[in-house]
Amino acid sequence: AFDVLIVGGGPAGAAAAIYAARKGIRTGVVADRFGGQVLDTLAIENFVSVKETEGPKFAVSLEEHVKHYDVDIMNLQRASKLEKSGQLFEVTTEDGAVLKSKSVILSTGARWREINVPGEKEYKNHGVAYCPHCDGPLFKGKRVSVIGGGNSGVEAAIDLAGIVEHVTLIEFGNELRADAVLQRKLYSLKNVDVIKGAQTTEVLGDGKKVTGLVYKDRASGELHTVELAGVFVQIGLIPNAEWLKGTLELTPHGEIEVDARGETSIPGVFAAGDVTTVPFKQIVIAVGEGAKASLAAFDYLMRLPTE
Ligand code: FAD
Repeated sequence: AFDVLIVGGGPAGAAAAIYAARKGIRTGVVADRFGGQVLDTLAIENFVSVKETEGPKFAVSLEEHVKHYDVDIMNLQRASKLEKSGQLFEVTTEDGAVLKSKSVILSTGARWREINVPGEKEYKNHGVAYCPHCDGPLFKGKRVSVIGGGNSGVEAAIDLAGIVEHVTLIEFGNELRADAVLQRKLYSLKNVDVIKGAQTTEVLGDGKKVTGLVYKDRASGELHTVELAGVFVQIGLIPNAEWLKGTLELTPHGEIEVDARGETSIPGVFAAGDVTTVPFKQIVIAVGEGAKASLAAFDYLMRLPTE
C-alpha cells in the first residue's frame, strides 16, 4: 500500500507528490492526463520566478521534477471510486485496478464550460480565452468580449476594462445574474457595453487569430457581428469531482470542501487545487495548495497508531 496516493497529476498533484516523496514515504500519483490543464495553455507569464513559458513546456518540467524522486506515476488512468476498507483507502480506476493507501490527496482539477460554437475550438489560445488573470494582459489596448453575465463574467469584464481598450459583455438571459454591487460597478465603466438576451453563435477569425464574434438577438432573431481580438468565455468552471458525489462533502457547485490545511470531510483524505473550494484558480495557487495538503497528509500519517 502507498502512504500517500495522489489522484490527479496537474500542478497541485505534482507539488503534493514532490513534498510527500521528500519525506521518504511511499508515494503514488494516478492521473488521467499528467500535466493537467497546463497542457492546453499557450503562454504562462504569471508563475512567480518564471517570466515566461509555455504550458506543454511547464508540464514537462513538472513531470521531470516529480520523476527526480521515487514516485510511482500511473498515467492515463481515471479514478472512479474512493472508499475506506479497514485501515486503508481504496481508489478504483475505470480499468478496474484497486490502489490502496493510508492517505489520499485529491487534485483532479477542473474544466471550463465551453460555448460550443464554431470557431471556439479553432481559436482557443489564439483569441479565445477562459482566464482573465492569465490572458488579460495579452489584450492590452484591444477590444474583447466576455461571454456570461454571472459573477465571474461581470468580474472578468470589470477586470479587463482596466487593461483593454473596450469590453463587450454578452449575456444569454434578459438580465445579468451577477451581484448588484458588481453590476453597479460594471455599468459605471465607460469602456464597457452590455448586450443582454444575446446568444453567441460563432467566433470569427482570419485563420490565425480571432477577429470577431456573431451573436443572435434572441428576441428578434437578428444576427449581429462584433469586431474584436479576444473572447473570454465565463460560463462556468466545472470541478472534476463528479465521481466523488456521495463520498465526501461537496459544495452545490461540486467543489470539494476543504479547510485551511486541505482536509476534506473524511479524515485522511485531503484535496488541493482547482477541484476544491480554494478561491482563485491559478497554477501558483494550486502548487501551494498541493504542497500544503501533502504536509497535512504527512502530519496525519505521523499520528496514526503504529501497527
Ligand atoms: P489540473 O491542472 O486541472 O489537473 C488535474 C489533474 O487531474 C490532471 O492530471 C487530470 O488528468 C487529472 N484528473 C482529473 N480527473 C481525474 C480522475 N477521475 N482520475 C485521475 N485523474 C484525474 N493558470 C495560471 O496560473 N496561469 C496561466 O497562464 C493559466 N492559463 C490557463 C490557460 C488555460 C487555457 C486553462 C484551461 C487554464 C489556465 N490556467 C492558468 C489555470 C491553471 O491551469 C489551473 O489553475 C491549474 O492547472 C490547476 O491545477 P490543478 O492541479 O488543481 O488541476
